[in-house]
Amino acid sequence: MNSYNPIRRSPLKPKARQHKESMPWRRQKIRLNGSEMLDLRQDAFARSGERCENSVTEDGTRCPVRINWMGFHLAHLVSRGRGGSDELSNVLASCQRCHDADTHNQKKLHPHKDWIANA
Ligand SMILES: [Zn+2]
Repeated sequence: MNSYNPIRRSPLKPKARQHKESMPWRRQKIRLNGSEMLDLRQDAFARSGERCENSVTEDGTRCPVRINWMGFHLAHLVSRGRGGSDELSNVLASCQRCHDADTHNQKKLHPHKDWIANA
């Protein structure tokens, strides 16, 4: 039998809206589909010059690891889960080691000092 709880689901008091109103002053997050993601991957790879774009020290010294098309990781600076967009300024072409360190929270990704987001 269905239990109807008149207090929790009173017809006079509709459930609160599930989604928030869109906030026009906030920039819309960008979410790409598979083929758009491939384009983003290509752009990031081209930008990288086939080297990991992460920095290994606080002063922005670039990670020396060379990357290749099949093996490199497209790492989000602000993760999707935290509201980061799928756009060139929010991704780094990174080596596996840098991405793993970021994923496991040992060392956050940050771009090397000569990095230009939309180069
Ligand atoms: Zn690296």
